Amino acid sequence: MSIFRKVKEKGIPLRTTHIIMIVLTAIAAFILLFETFRFSNAFDDVSTATDKYIELQKDANELMNASDYLTQEVQCFTVTGEKIYMNLYFEEADENKHREKALEKLKKISGESKAYTLLSKSMSNSLELMQTEYYAMKLVVIAREIDYVPKKVENVQLTDEDSALSSELKMKKAQDLVHNTAYHRKKDLIRNNMEQCLAELEKQTHGAQDEAYDKLDRQVNAIRVLIFVQLGAIILILVMTSVLIISPILRGVHMISKDEQLPVKGSYEFRYLAMTYNKMYDAFKKSIASLNYDASHDKLTGLYNRAGCDILSKSIDLKTTAVLLVDADKFKEINDTHGHAVGDKVLQKLARVLKKTFRSEDYICRIGGDEFVVFMMHVSEELKDLIRLKTKQINDALADTSDDIPPISTSIGVAFGHKEHSVSTMLKHADTALYTVKAGGRSGCCFYEGHV
Ligand code: GH3
Ligand code: MG
Repeated sequence: MSIFRKVKEKGIPLRTTHIIMIVLTAIAAFILLFETFRFSNAFDDVSTATDKYIELQKDANELMNASDYLTQEVQCFTVTGEKIYMNLYFEEADENKHREKALEKLKKISGESKAYTLLSKSMSNSLELMQTEYYAMKLVVIAREIDYVPKKVENVQLTDEDSALSSELKMKKAQDLVHNTAYHRKKDLIRNNMEQCLAELEKQTHGAQDEAYDKLDRQVNAIRVLIFVQLGAIILILVMTSVLIISPILRGVHMISKDEQLPVKGSYEFRYLAMTYNKMYDAFKKSIASLNYDASHDKLTGLYNRAGCDILSKSIDLKTTAVLLVDADKFKEINDTHGHAVGDKVLQKLARVLKKTFRSEDYICRIGGDEFVVFMMHVSEELKDLIRLKTKQINDALADTSDDIPPISTSIGVAFGHKEHSVSTMLKHADTALYTVKAGGRSGCCFYEGHV
């Protein structure tokens, strides 16, 4: 049997559905969680790219600032001849080393990138420029006869021509070297390289940012899809809960309140419950019916008993009914002569004869030991002869001993229904008529005429 046919016939099992739902929502939740982590990483990438750019920009500027600082110190030194400026120059160049540190940092962050190459060029131009600056400083040192000069300046060899210059001219030459066009061209070169480096860094950063934004966009879309999946799963769970659990429960409660069987619908478990309930419902109804039957029927003859007679009498139309009170004649003698068991057989025979004699629409009851009531339905007083004939038939049948049952006769008192009569009155009247038959020698019938 295919799984779909099986599900259609037996219903969807709640346990399986439950497990599938839990697994599906757990997977969707896990993926969603994972995607939010990736989203946060992608977001970090964007901010890292931006931070990195700011850091690199700072480094590139630092190199340029350090170069400008050296220029400024050397220029001040050539103009004033104050040793302090030379000291500050070397403090920056040999101790603080801002340019070297900035270059190193840039290499660390961006690797051997194009930006790094450009900034390296700036650095080597700056170093080249330092040779001119040392030369200028040497001129000032000699012109101003300054002692304790750093080795780098000490080692500089002046040309013979410059050595021959007067102190004044040496100072002028020194100033010229750090202010002339060649010097500024070199400075411009350093600045250019640095600007190109910045442009390159910006390009790189934009590339990284674009990539990170793309990633971010993809993550947002994936999260959106997953939220839809989650939403779908929630709707599915609600629908399944309604179809498989809530509706069957509501339907079941409604049917139970109406005292009806449950429809076998919904999940496998509810179908099982409904089928079990229906089985119990059937068994319960049958036992109630059987209890009712036992309460309203006579065990010996299978006819209605007195309680059954009372119930029946309430539902019949008395106007068109004749009540016949049938009593076995001298029944005690049967018991006394043949025993109680034979007496029972006689009573059973009498019941069979009565059933045979009257129509199926008539009701026959055993209301006492040997006393029976027949409700002849839809009859009128014109049918007295028919009743006489039936009485004869009954007694003839009871006189027949071919079945080895002792013969017996019956006396029957009859009362016809009238609008104003209740069943108890009719029974009373029938009893009066019966008494007349008994008094008249038994075995026959008599009609209550109101003055019997
Ligand atoms: P009568 O002609 O005046 O009716 O005389 P009778 O002997 O039939 O008197 P009555 O109708 O009063 O007696 C009924 C007897 O039926 C009394 C009782 O012992 C007997 N009887 C009552 N129930 C049963 C029963 O279930 N089985 C048997 N075998 N006898 C019963
Ligand atoms: Mg009797």
